[in-house]
Amino acid sequence: MNDTLLIVGAGPTGLSAAAAAASVGKRVVLVEKENKLGGAPILSGYAKLVPSGEWAKDAIGRMVKRVEDDARITIHKGVKVTQLDGDFGNFTATLSNGQAAQAGAVILGTGFTHFDAINKPEWGFGTYEDVVTTTQVEQMVTAGKIACPSDGRIPDRVCILLCVGSRDRQIGREWCSKICCTVSTNLAMEIKELSPKTDVYIYYMDIRTFGLYEDKFYWRSQEEFRTKFVKARIAEVTKAPDGRLLVKGEDTLVKRPIVIPFDLVVHAIGMDPNLDNPEIAKVFDVGLEHHGFLQRGEHYTATFSTSRRGVYAGGSALGPEDIDTCIAHGLGMAVRAVGDLATADQKAA
Ligand SMILES: Cc1cc2nc3c(=O)[nH]c(=O)nc-3n(C[C@H](O)[C@H](O)[C@H](O)COP(=O)(O)OP(=O)(O)OC[C@H]3O[C@@H](n4cnc5c(N)ncnc54)[C@H](O)[C@@H]3O)c2cc1C
Ligand code: SF4
Repeated sequence: MNDTLLIVGAGPTGLSAAAAAASVGKRVVLVEKENKLGGAPILSGYAKLVPSGEWAKDAIGRMVKRVEDDARITIHKGVKVTQLDGDFGNFTATLSNGQAAQAGAVILGTGFTHFDAINKPEWGFGTYEDVVTTTQVEQMVTAGKIACPSDGRIPDRVCILLCVGSRDRQIGREWCSKICCTVSTNLAMEIKELSPKTDVYIYYMDIRTFGLYEDKFYWRSQEEFRTKFVKARIAEVTKAPDGRLLVKGEDTLVKRPIVIPFDLVVHAIGMDPNLDNPEIAKVFDVGLEHHGFLQRGEHYTATFSTSRRGVYAGGSALGPEDIDTCIAHGLGMAVRAVGDLATADQKAA
């Protein structure tokens, strides 16, 4: 029985699993398709994370360093698994760099893909330069300047549209992406900190700043930073003759049409299934649930299992999740994998 773990994906989930397995003395092979570790917060250049308020490059950077500094963890960057042969206890993975890896169990922390806002064309992304996504604004905050891409001016008025690519049956995205309300209320405060004269509006269907995030982000954003919340159904984003963007819709509280001009419109994009999931399902022989996220197995006594024995899945590969939950999933998967291998070993002895 081989007790090395093969971990695929080096975002918060995979990094947490790798560090946990190594901390109990297990060897880990970590395979990441990009040339950088850290997952979405690093690859997309997030600014300050919720709820900690720490810069992503510092917080996730620490997770990366812990893994890179551990001699028990072998890292393959810019690499994918192309084939997985064998069974629980004795898997052989073929890697796209021509090498092979032996492992007793496999952990999938392969994450999600950001919703491509081009799939919501009536809301102006891809048509107007000053319609951007939350990840673009995160990058602006990281760079220390909020500006309209069209001409570099500091916006007088910014509007953040929630639920772009989430809770939208028309485009087959029925799920709530869970974190974007909190991320957006936080971004509104960060915009205001960088540019106190800018007015920030948030257009919402419902506000889902769950748990302790309600007062830390929603109320604080409204009361201390004067973010204006508009409960609305958005129809379209067009351009006014003066070049500003017009957000047209219905204020669903007063049931009246509203048209407000903005300098910058921000799409709070949701979390889609990883575009690689059909390939991952084939290579690792695991199922997908009906939206395209990885299918989880029996939850209560075989937490993080998949349809293949010895292959575990967690984090945002299973559906939209925040980083704290992904870190917990990584720890949980490492415990499950190490525990299952130890139990099988004892039975075999
Ligand atoms: C705009 C935005 C802002 C956010 N801000 C916050 C925040 O402030 N706080 C918070 O808690 N959450 C935030 N989130 C959510 C956060 O991004 C996720 O919780 C987190 O990134 C999920 O971690 P993960 O490791 O499961 O997946 P990912 O971060 O997606 O990492 C998966 C890793 O696996 C790799 N991978 C994928 N497929 C393969 C493959 N086939 N082979 C090898 N490697 C592969 C990827 O390259 C990536 O490195 C935000 C989300 C969005 C959309
Ligand atoms: S967290 Fe908020 S913005 Fe994100 S999908 Fe859910 S309700 Fe919409």
